Amino acid sequence: MKREILLCSAAMLSANAALAQPAGGVKVSTQAHAVHEAAIVLDTHMDTPALFSRPGWDIIDRHSVEQDGSQVDLPRMIDGGVDGGFFAIYTPQGPRTKAGDDQARAFGLVRATEIHEMVVKHADKFELALTADDAVRIAGEHKRFVFMSMENAYPLAGDPGMLDAFYALGVRMVGFAHFTNNDFADSATDKPEWNGLSPKGRALLAEMNRLGVIPDPSHSSDAVLEQVIELSKTPVVLSHSGARAVFDNPRNAPDDLIRRLAAKGGVIQINAYNAYMAKIPPNPDRDKAMAALRMKYRGRRLTEADIVAETAERRAILTRYPVPRANLDDLMKHLLHVVDLVGVDHVGLCGDFDGGGGIDGYNSIADLPAVTERLLKAGYSKDDIAKIWGGNVLRVLRETQVYAQSQKSASGSE
Ligand SMILES: [Zn+2]
Repeated sequence: MKREILLCSAAMLSANAALAQPAGGVKVSTQAHAVHEAAIVLDTHMDTPALFSRPGWDIIDRHSVEQDGSQVDLPRMIDGGVDGGFFAIYTPQGPRTKAGDDQARAFGLVRATEIHEMVVKHADKFELALTADDAVRIAGEHKRFVFMSMENAYPLAGDPGMLDAFYALGVRMVGFAHFTNNDFADSATDKPEWNGLSPKGRALLAEMNRLGVIPDPSHSSDAVLEQVIELSKTPVVLSHSGARAVFDNPRNAPDDLIRRLAAKGGVIQINAYNAYMAKIPPNPDRDKAMAALRMKYRGRRLTEADIVAETAERRAILTRYPVPRANLDDLMKHLLHVVDLVGVDHVGLCGDFDGGGGIDGYNSIADLPAVTERLLKAGYSKDDIAKIWGGNVLRVLRETQVYAQSQKSASGSE
Protein backbone atom coordinates (compact mmCIF):
# COMPACT_ATOMS: atom_id res chain seq x y z
CA MET A 1 0.00 0.00 0.00
CA LYS A 2 1.31 3.44 -0.84
CA ARG A 3 2.05 5.23 2.41
CA GLU A 4 4.63 7.73 1.23
CA ILE A 5 2.35 10.74 1.37
CA LEU A 6 1.37 9.90 4.90
CA LEU A 7 4.94 9.22 5.91
CA CYS A 8 6.21 12.46 4.39
CA SER A 9 3.57 14.70 5.90
CA ALA A 10 3.49 13.23 9.36
CA ALA A 11 6.54 11.04 9.60
CA MET A 12 6.76 11.03 13.38
CA LEU A 13 3.12 10.24 13.99
CA SER A 14 2.61 7.77 11.21
CA ALA A 15 5.76 5.70 11.47
CA ASN A 16 4.33 3.46 14.15
CA ALA A 17 0.81 3.48 12.74
CA ALA A 18 2.00 2.49 9.27
CA LEU A 19 3.94 -0.40 10.71
CA ALA A 20 1.10 -1.67 12.86
CA GLN A 21 0.08 -4.94 11.27
CA PRO A 22 -3.58 -5.53 10.59
CA ALA A 23 -5.24 -8.01 12.91
CA GLY A 24 -6.55 -10.36 10.24
CA GLY A 25 -3.52 -10.41 7.95
CA VAL A 26 -0.73 -12.93 7.63
CA LYS A 27 1.98 -12.24 10.20
CA VAL A 28 5.27 -11.07 8.72
CA SER A 29 8.38 -9.30 10.02
CA THR A 30 8.26 -5.56 10.65
CA GLN A 31 10.67 -5.07 7.73
CA ALA A 32 8.54 -7.12 5.33
CA HIS A 33 5.45 -5.25 6.44
CA ALA A 34 7.13 -1.88 5.83
CA VAL A 35 8.41 -2.90 2.39
CA HIS A 36 5.00 -4.28 1.43
CA GLU A 37 3.16 -1.17 2.59
CA ALA A 38 5.54 1.09 0.68
CA ALA A 39 4.85 -0.68 -2.62
CA ILE A 40 1.83 -0.30 -4.85
CA VAL A 41 0.41 -3.80 -4.57
CA LEU A 42 -2.03 -5.10 -7.15
CA ASP A 43 -3.47 -8.37 -8.38
CA THR A 44 -4.05 -8.70 -12.13
CA HIS A 45 -7.01 -11.05 -12.14
CA MET A 46 -9.79 -11.01 -9.59
CA ASP A 47 -13.06 -12.77 -10.40
CA THR A 48 -14.76 -11.03 -7.47
CA PRO A 49 -17.25 -9.12 -9.69
CA ALA A 50 -19.07 -12.47 -10.05
CA LEU A 51 -20.02 -12.02 -6.39
CA PHE A 52 -21.28 -8.44 -6.67
CA SER A 53 -24.81 -9.52 -7.57
CA ARG A 54 -24.97 -12.19 -4.85
CA PRO A 55 -27.77 -11.27 -2.44
CA GLY A 56 -26.37 -10.34 0.97
CA TRP A 57 -22.74 -10.16 -0.16
CA ASP A 58 -20.97 -6.79 -0.01
CA ILE A 59 -17.29 -6.19 -0.74
CA ILE A 60 -16.91 -3.89 2.25
CA ASP A 61 -17.87 -6.64 4.73
CA ARG A 62 -15.36 -9.14 6.06
CA HIS A 63 -15.84 -12.67 4.76
CA SER A 64 -13.71 -15.80 4.97
CA VAL A 65 -12.72 -18.60 2.62
CA GLU A 66 -13.85 -21.10 5.25
CA GLN A 67 -17.33 -19.64 5.48
CA ASP A 68 -18.39 -18.61 2.01
CA GLY A 69 -15.39 -19.46 -0.18
CA SER A 70 -14.79 -15.83 -1.16
CA GLN A 71 -11.21 -14.58 -1.28
CA VAL A 72 -11.37 -10.81 -1.84
CA ASP A 73 -13.10 -8.05 0.12
CA LEU A 74 -12.09 -4.63 1.44
CA PRO A 75 -11.07 -5.74 4.97
CA ARG A 76 -8.87 -8.49 3.51
CA MET A 77 -7.42 -6.12 0.88
CA ILE A 78 -6.40 -3.84 3.74
CA ASP A 79 -4.99 -6.81 5.69
CA GLY A 80 -3.03 -7.87 2.61
CA GLY A 81 -1.74 -4.34 1.92
CA VAL A 82 -3.40 -4.47 -1.49
CA ASP A 83 -4.03 -1.16 -3.25
CA GLY A 84 -6.17 -2.47 -6.08
CA GLY A 85 -6.15 -4.55 -9.18
CA PHE A 86 -7.94 -5.76 -12.23
CA PHE A 87 -11.55 -6.78 -11.63
CA ALA A 88 -12.56 -9.16 -14.37
CA ILE A 89 -15.59 -9.35 -16.58
CA TYR A 90 -15.42 -13.12 -16.92
CA THR A 91 -17.81 -14.74 -19.37
CA PRO A 92 -17.96 -18.52 -19.76
CA GLN A 93 -17.67 -19.53 -23.41
CA GLY A 94 -21.03 -20.55 -24.84
CA PRO A 95 -22.37 -21.21 -28.33
CA ARG A 96 -20.68 -19.30 -31.15
CA THR A 97 -23.97 -18.30 -32.72
CA LYS A 98 -25.80 -15.00 -33.14
CA ALA A 99 -27.94 -15.81 -30.09
CA GLY A 100 -24.89 -16.89 -28.06
CA ASP A 101 -23.00 -13.72 -29.02
CA ASP A 102 -25.96 -11.51 -28.14
CA GLN A 103 -26.27 -13.17 -24.77
CA ALA A 104 -22.52 -12.87 -24.07
CA ARG A 105 -22.53 -9.17 -24.98
CA ALA A 106 -25.46 -8.53 -22.64
CA PHE A 107 -23.77 -10.57 -19.90
CA GLY A 108 -20.53 -8.59 -20.28
CA LEU A 109 -22.33 -5.26 -20.21
CA VAL A 110 -24.24 -6.26 -17.06
CA ARG A 111 -21.01 -7.36 -15.35
CA ALA A 112 -19.31 -4.09 -16.34
CA THR A 113 -22.29 -2.20 -14.90
CA GLU A 114 -22.07 -4.17 -11.66
CA ILE A 115 -18.42 -3.17 -11.29
CA HIS A 116 -19.39 0.48 -11.82
CA GLU A 117 -22.22 0.13 -9.31
CA MET A 118 -19.87 -1.29 -6.69
CA VAL A 119 -17.47 1.62 -7.17
CA VAL A 120 -20.28 4.20 -7.03
CA LYS A 121 -21.79 2.60 -3.92
CA HIS A 122 -18.45 2.68 -2.11
CA ALA A 123 -16.96 5.80 -3.68
CA ASP A 124 -15.16 6.67 -0.46
CA LYS A 125 -13.29 3.36 -0.54
CA PHE A 126 -12.93 2.36 -4.20
CA GLU A 127 -12.35 4.32 -7.41
CA LEU A 128 -12.31 3.28 -11.04
CA ALA A 129 -8.81 3.63 -12.52
CA LEU A 130 -8.39 4.28 -16.23
CA THR A 131 -4.66 5.03 -16.33
CA ALA A 132 -1.51 4.01 -14.47
CA ASP A 133 -1.37 7.49 -12.97
CA ASP A 134 -4.93 7.04 -11.66
CA ALA A 135 -3.79 3.94 -9.77
CA VAL A 136 -0.87 5.78 -8.17
CA ARG A 137 -3.08 8.73 -7.19
CA ILE A 138 -5.90 6.58 -5.81
CA ALA A 139 -3.47 4.47 -3.76
CA GLY A 140 -2.00 7.71 -2.38
CA GLU A 141 -5.49 8.72 -1.26
CA HIS A 142 -5.81 5.39 0.62
CA LYS A 143 -8.60 4.13 -1.58
CA ARG A 144 -8.48 0.93 -3.66
CA PHE A 145 -8.14 1.35 -7.42
CA VAL A 146 -10.38 -0.72 -9.64
CA PHE A 147 -9.13 -1.51 -13.14
CA MET A 148 -11.57 -3.37 -15.34
CA SER A 149 -10.44 -6.31 -17.44
CA MET A 150 -12.12 -8.90 -19.59
CA GLU A 151 -11.49 -12.64 -19.39
CA ASN A 152 -12.66 -14.18 -22.65
CA ALA A 153 -13.48 -11.71 -25.45
CA TYR A 154 -16.81 -13.49 -26.06
CA PRO A 155 -18.84 -10.39 -25.00
CA LEU A 156 -17.40 -8.59 -28.05
CA ALA A 157 -19.78 -10.84 -29.99
CA GLY A 158 -17.21 -11.65 -32.63
CA ASP A 159 -16.81 -7.96 -33.50
CA PRO A 160 -13.41 -6.34 -32.75
CA GLY A 161 -15.17 -2.96 -33.16
CA MET A 162 -17.14 -3.69 -29.97
CA LEU A 163 -13.95 -3.16 -27.97
CA ASP A 164 -14.58 0.57 -28.33
CA ALA A 165 -17.72 0.30 -26.19
CA PHE A 166 -16.03 -1.74 -23.47
CA TYR A 167 -13.02 0.59 -23.55
CA ALA A 168 -15.40 3.50 -22.96
CA LEU A 169 -16.76 1.59 -19.95
CA GLY A 170 -13.23 1.37 -18.57
CA VAL A 171 -11.80 -1.96 -19.74
CA ARG A 172 -7.99 -1.77 -19.95
CA MET A 173 -6.92 -5.41 -20.37
CA VAL A 174 -8.54 -8.12 -22.48
CA GLY A 175 -7.97 -11.87 -22.59
CA PHE A 176 -8.75 -13.48 -25.93
CA ALA A 177 -10.19 -16.89 -25.05
CA HIS A 178 -11.04 -19.06 -22.06
CA PHE A 179 -11.24 -22.87 -21.67
CA THR A 180 -12.33 -23.42 -25.29
CA ASN A 181 -11.64 -21.80 -28.65
CA ASN A 182 -13.70 -18.82 -29.76
CA ASP A 183 -14.01 -16.57 -32.80
CA PHE A 184 -10.82 -14.70 -31.86
CA ALA A 185 -8.31 -17.30 -30.75
CA ASP A 186 -7.43 -20.86 -29.81
CA SER A 187 -7.55 -21.83 -26.16
CA ALA A 188 -4.64 -23.46 -24.32
CA THR A 189 -7.05 -26.21 -23.29
CA ASP A 190 -8.68 -26.98 -26.66
CA LYS A 191 -7.58 -28.42 -30.00
CA PRO A 192 -6.07 -25.98 -32.54
CA GLU A 193 -8.72 -24.42 -34.75
CA TRP A 194 -7.09 -21.21 -35.99
CA ASN A 195 -3.49 -22.21 -35.25
CA GLY A 196 -3.30 -19.13 -33.09
CA LEU A 197 -5.26 -15.96 -33.63
CA SER A 198 -8.13 -15.91 -36.11
CA PRO A 199 -8.33 -12.99 -38.59
CA LYS A 200 -10.79 -11.38 -36.15
CA GLY A 201 -8.33 -12.03 -33.32
CA ARG A 202 -5.64 -10.14 -35.24
CA ALA A 203 -8.05 -7.28 -35.84
CA LEU A 204 -8.91 -7.29 -32.12
CA LEU A 205 -5.23 -7.07 -31.20
CA ALA A 206 -4.85 -4.08 -33.52
CA GLU A 207 -7.88 -2.47 -31.82
CA MET A 208 -6.31 -3.06 -28.40
CA ASN A 209 -3.11 -1.35 -29.54
CA ARG A 210 -5.06 1.53 -31.09
CA LEU A 211 -7.20 2.16 -28.01
CA GLY A 212 -4.60 1.47 -25.33
CA VAL A 213 -5.75 -1.90 -23.97
CA ILE A 214 -3.26 -4.52 -22.71
CA PRO A 215 -3.45 -7.82 -24.63
CA ASP A 216 -3.68 -10.80 -22.26
CA PRO A 217 -2.99 -14.24 -23.77
CA SER A 218 -3.57 -16.15 -20.47
CA HIS A 219 -5.81 -19.13 -21.29
CA SER A 220 -4.85 -18.81 -24.98
CA SER A 221 -2.70 -21.39 -26.78
CA ASP A 222 1.08 -21.12 -27.16
CA ALA A 223 0.57 -20.17 -30.82
CA VAL A 224 -1.65 -17.26 -29.75
CA LEU A 225 0.90 -16.15 -27.16
CA GLU A 226 3.66 -16.30 -29.75
CA GLN A 227 1.65 -14.35 -32.34
CA VAL A 228 0.47 -11.73 -29.85
CA ILE A 229 4.05 -11.13 -28.69
CA GLU A 230 5.13 -10.87 -32.34
CA LEU A 231 2.31 -8.64 -33.59
CA SER A 232 1.49 -6.40 -30.65
CA LYS A 233 2.83 -2.86 -30.80
CA THR A 234 2.82 -2.73 -27.00
CA PRO A 235 4.05 -5.13 -24.28
CA VAL A 236 1.93 -8.15 -23.41
CA VAL A 237 0.74 -9.23 -19.96
CA LEU A 238 -0.10 -12.81 -19.05
CA SER A 239 -2.55 -11.86 -16.29
CA HIS A 240 -2.58 -15.30 -14.62
CA SER A 241 -0.22 -17.99 -15.89
CA GLY A 242 2.58 -20.11 -14.46
CA ALA A 243 5.93 -21.41 -15.72
CA ARG A 244 5.70 -24.69 -17.63
CA ALA A 245 9.32 -25.54 -16.80
CA VAL A 246 8.24 -25.72 -13.15
CA PHE A 247 4.93 -27.53 -13.71
CA ASP A 248 3.92 -29.01 -17.03
CA ASN A 249 0.42 -27.79 -17.85
CA PRO A 250 -0.88 -26.11 -21.02
CA ARG A 251 -2.03 -23.13 -18.89
CA ASN A 252 1.60 -22.42 -18.00
CA ALA A 253 3.99 -20.66 -20.40
CA PRO A 254 7.16 -22.28 -21.78
CA ASP A 255 10.54 -20.66 -21.16
CA ASP A 256 11.20 -19.67 -24.78
CA LEU A 257 7.95 -17.69 -24.93
CA ILE A 258 8.54 -16.12 -21.50
CA ARG A 259 11.91 -14.94 -22.83
CA ARG A 260 10.30 -13.45 -25.94
CA LEU A 261 7.53 -11.86 -23.87
CA ALA A 262 10.15 -10.23 -21.66
CA ALA A 263 12.33 -9.16 -24.61
CA LYS A 264 9.41 -7.03 -25.77
CA GLY A 265 8.77 -5.56 -22.34
CA GLY A 266 5.97 -7.91 -21.28
CA VAL A 267 5.12 -9.35 -17.88
CA ILE A 268 3.96 -12.75 -16.63
CA GLN A 269 1.84 -12.70 -13.48
CA ILE A 270 2.32 -16.01 -11.68
CA ASN A 271 -0.98 -17.74 -11.03
CA ALA A 272 -1.75 -19.35 -7.65
CA TYR A 273 -4.13 -21.94 -9.15
CA ASN A 274 -3.84 -25.37 -7.60
CA ALA A 275 -4.58 -27.53 -10.65
CA TYR A 276 -1.82 -25.77 -12.64
CA MET A 277 0.71 -26.32 -9.84
CA ALA A 278 0.04 -29.76 -8.36
CA LYS A 279 -0.60 -33.21 -9.82
CA ILE A 280 -4.18 -34.17 -8.97
CA PRO A 281 -4.82 -37.87 -9.56
CA PRO A 282 -8.31 -38.57 -10.90
CA ASN A 283 -10.86 -39.73 -8.35
CA PRO A 284 -14.23 -40.79 -9.81
CA ASP A 285 -15.90 -40.83 -6.39
CA ARG A 286 -14.88 -37.25 -5.76
CA ASP A 287 -15.98 -36.20 -9.25
CA LYS A 288 -19.34 -37.85 -8.66
CA ALA A 289 -19.83 -36.10 -5.31
CA MET A 290 -18.82 -32.74 -6.81
CA ALA A 291 -21.17 -33.22 -9.77
CA ALA A 292 -24.03 -33.99 -7.38
CA LEU A 293 -23.20 -30.84 -5.40
CA ARG A 294 -23.26 -28.75 -8.57
CA MET A 295 -26.63 -30.21 -9.56
CA LYS A 296 -28.06 -29.48 -6.13
CA TYR A 297 -27.38 -25.74 -6.37
CA ARG A 298 -27.72 -25.31 -10.12
CA GLY A 299 -30.19 -23.06 -11.85
CA ARG A 300 -31.18 -20.74 -9.02
CA ARG A 301 -29.91 -17.50 -7.63
CA LEU A 302 -27.93 -18.40 -4.53
CA THR A 303 -28.26 -16.40 -1.33
CA GLU A 304 -25.34 -15.94 1.07
CA ALA A 305 -26.90 -18.69 3.25
CA ASP A 306 -26.95 -21.07 0.28
CA ILE A 307 -23.30 -20.30 -0.41
CA VAL A 308 -22.30 -20.94 3.22
CA ALA A 309 -24.10 -24.30 3.08
CA GLU A 310 -22.60 -25.16 -0.29
CA THR A 311 -19.09 -24.22 0.93
CA ALA A 312 -19.47 -26.52 3.95
CA GLU A 313 -20.66 -29.39 1.74
CA ARG A 314 -17.78 -28.83 -0.66
CA ARG A 315 -15.31 -28.88 2.25
CA ALA A 316 -16.83 -32.15 3.51
CA ILE A 317 -16.31 -33.74 0.08
CA LEU A 318 -12.70 -32.55 -0.02
CA THR A 319 -12.11 -33.89 3.50
CA ARG A 320 -13.41 -37.27 2.38
CA TYR A 321 -11.56 -37.24 -0.96
CA PRO A 322 -8.58 -34.92 -0.41
CA VAL A 323 -6.91 -33.13 -3.32
CA PRO A 324 -3.12 -32.56 -3.22
CA ARG A 325 -2.52 -28.88 -2.51
CA ALA A 326 0.25 -26.68 -3.86
CA ASN A 327 1.70 -24.21 -1.36
CA LEU A 328 3.73 -21.04 -1.03
CA ASP A 329 6.94 -22.96 -1.79
CA ASP A 330 5.51 -23.96 -5.17
CA LEU A 331 4.41 -20.41 -5.92
CA MET A 332 7.89 -19.14 -5.08
CA LYS A 333 9.41 -21.77 -7.40
CA HIS A 334 7.39 -20.40 -10.35
CA LEU A 335 8.15 -16.80 -9.39
CA LEU A 336 11.88 -17.28 -8.85
CA HIS A 337 12.21 -19.43 -11.96
CA VAL A 338 10.90 -16.54 -14.05
CA VAL A 339 13.10 -14.04 -12.18
CA ASP A 340 16.14 -16.23 -12.95
CA LEU A 341 15.04 -16.50 -16.58
CA VAL A 342 14.21 -12.87 -17.39
CA GLY A 343 14.79 -10.72 -14.30
CA VAL A 344 12.52 -8.85 -11.88
CA ASP A 345 11.13 -6.45 -14.50
CA HIS A 346 8.94 -9.05 -16.17
CA VAL A 347 7.09 -10.87 -13.44
CA GLY A 348 4.34 -10.37 -10.89
CA LEU A 349 1.70 -12.35 -9.03
CA CYS A 350 -1.94 -13.22 -9.36
CA GLY A 351 -4.10 -15.25 -7.00
CA ASP A 352 -6.91 -15.96 -9.48
CA PHE A 353 -9.04 -15.33 -6.42
CA ASP A 354 -12.77 -15.95 -6.60
CA GLY A 355 -12.08 -17.74 -9.88
CA GLY A 356 -10.81 -21.06 -8.57
CA GLY A 357 -7.41 -19.80 -7.39
CA GLY A 358 -5.81 -20.21 -4.00
CA ILE A 359 -3.20 -22.59 -2.57
CA ASP A 360 -1.95 -23.28 0.94
CA GLY A 361 -0.41 -20.10 2.31
CA TYR A 362 -1.78 -17.96 -0.54
CA ASN A 363 -5.48 -18.50 -0.28
CA SER A 364 -6.95 -15.02 -0.09
CA ILE A 365 -5.98 -11.45 -0.88
CA ALA A 366 -4.93 -11.09 2.79
CA ASP A 367 -2.00 -13.49 2.26
CA LEU A 368 0.10 -11.41 -0.15
CA PRO A 369 2.64 -10.08 2.41
CA ALA A 370 3.91 -13.65 2.87
CA VAL A 371 5.56 -13.41 -0.56
CA THR A 372 7.22 -10.12 0.35
CA GLU A 373 8.72 -11.85 3.37
CA ARG A 374 10.04 -14.68 1.19
CA LEU A 375 11.50 -12.26 -1.37
CA LEU A 376 13.28 -10.25 1.32
CA LYS A 377 14.74 -13.44 2.79
CA ALA A 378 15.90 -14.42 -0.70
CA GLY A 379 17.80 -11.13 -0.92
CA TYR A 380 15.56 -9.06 -3.19
CA SER A 381 15.52 -5.30 -2.67
CA LYS A 382 12.62 -3.03 -1.82
CA ASP A 383 12.67 -1.76 -5.42
CA ASP A 384 12.64 -5.29 -6.88
CA ILE A 385 9.68 -6.18 -4.70
CA ALA A 386 7.78 -3.03 -5.68
CA LYS A 387 8.24 -3.91 -9.36
CA ILE A 388 6.92 -7.41 -8.79
CA TRP A 389 3.85 -6.24 -6.85
CA GLY A 390 2.66 -3.60 -9.28
CA GLY A 391 5.40 -1.52 -10.84
CA ASN A 392 5.87 -3.83 -13.81
CA VAL A 393 2.21 -3.98 -14.80
CA LEU A 394 1.74 -0.24 -14.32
CA ARG A 395 4.78 0.35 -16.56
CA VAL A 396 3.19 -1.80 -19.26
CA LEU A 397 -0.14 0.03 -18.95
CA ARG A 398 1.68 3.36 -19.21
CA GLU A 399 3.54 2.24 -22.35
CA THR A 400 0.29 0.89 -23.81
CA GLN A 401 -1.45 4.21 -23.29
CA VAL A 402 1.49 6.31 -24.51
CA TYR A 403 1.51 4.27 -27.71
CA ALA A 404 -2.24 4.72 -28.26
CA GLN A 405 -1.91 8.44 -27.64
CA SER A 406 0.98 8.71 -30.11
CA GLN A 407 -1.10 7.01 -32.79
CA LYS A 408 -3.98 9.43 -32.19
CA SER A 409 -1.62 12.39 -32.45
CA ALA A 410 -0.01 10.99 -35.59
CA SER A 411 -3.37 10.43 -37.29
CA GLY A 412 -4.57 13.91 -36.24
CA SER A 413 -7.68 12.47 -34.63
CA GLU A 414 -7.05 14.47 -31.50
ZN1 LIG B 1 -8.77 -17.75 -15.68
